[in-house]
Amino acid sequence: MIWIGIALSLSACSAGSGSTSSSVTAEKNAQSTARAACDTGTAIAAGKRLRISATVAPITSIVANIAGEHADIAGLVPEGTNSHTFEPAPSVAAILAKTDVLFVNGLLLEEPTKDLAEQNLSNGAVLCELGTAALPVADYIYDFSFPIEGGKPNPHLWTNPPLARQYAEIVRDVLVRMDPAHTDAYRSNADVFIARINQLDAAMVAATATVPANQRKLLTYHDAYAYFARTYGWTVIGAIQPSNFDEPTAKEIANLITQVRKTGVPAIFGSEVFPSPVLEQIGAEANVKYVDVLRDDDLPGKPGDPSHSFLGLMQFDYITMVDALGGDAAALKALDISDVNIDTAEYPQ
Ligand SMILES: [Zn+2]
Repeated sequence: MIWIGIALSLSACSAGSGSTSSSVTAEKNAQSTARAACDTGTAIAAGKRLRISATVAPITSIVANIAGEHADIAGLVPEGTNSHTFEPAPSVAAILAKTDVLFVNGLLLEEPTKDLAEQNLSNGAVLCELGTAALPVADYIYDFSFPIEGGKPNPHLWTNPPLARQYAEIVRDVLVRMDPAHTDAYRSNADVFIARINQLDAAMVAATATVPANQRKLLTYHDAYAYFARTYGWTVIGAIQPSNFDEPTAKEIANLITQVRKTGVPAIFGSEVFPSPVLEQIGAEANVKYVDVLRDDDLPGKPGDPSHSFLGLMQFDYITMVDALGGDAAALKALDISDVNIDTAEYPQ
């Protein structure tokens, strides 16, 4: 099903909360919440090294910051792939069988990975759904790309710093419980990392104030900033990517060009993970700037680069948005985005 026309004509009331859940969706959400289960599992034996797996790269990076040198961390979703349709290879079963803690986002983002995990995790292991544990169902956002009829809420919580802070707190608590021998390290790593998230949050508030109020509008290709927009008082006026992740048709593109002109936005934003040749055409014909580099689960640079991190990802996106919409990104550019520890997690490419 295609949501483009609806997306752009609903500009005044976009990104509403999920308080009108249908009963089917509510039931799915209730099941999902029950499975968040971050507080289960059996602590590993003293002297044993904690083995962690995580799904998308921003979550892997958050975990790596807090675990530091005390755990082995395997990322499961290769960077640059579509995490919304990702299916793990059967070989991932062997990794999961040796995993003590699996961190996923939840909100129904990684169901195939969860299914494989439920068949392969050992008895004492934890399957922790960070987003599902962090956000009450009543605060879920359903929108153009994640319509309530589809039953899957918008899962992009980590692009919103207050929710990312909750992810970090949950990760800290799980690591302390599963590997109590390194409690002090996990707590102090988390303190430093959470302080950096708080600085990111404050910088985004400061940068938002410099963007003209009538330009705090996001028209993105991939719909990854709904919770961010709600926190900082921005408006998501639409998402171009149809909910089935196909390209829009020629007729839809023509409608879209008309609608983009009407919104008066100075820029539209493409996605690094989903290159879309039609976006450039839409930008040119609607006479707005086309910025094609936003990313939501593909970290900047390569593993080992200083910016290849959750904080680097968010700093890059926010600077890109603020610059393109006429604001001053100085507060964001001044941030310390360095990792708390040397990040030794494996990030499949
Ligand atoms: Zn996404």
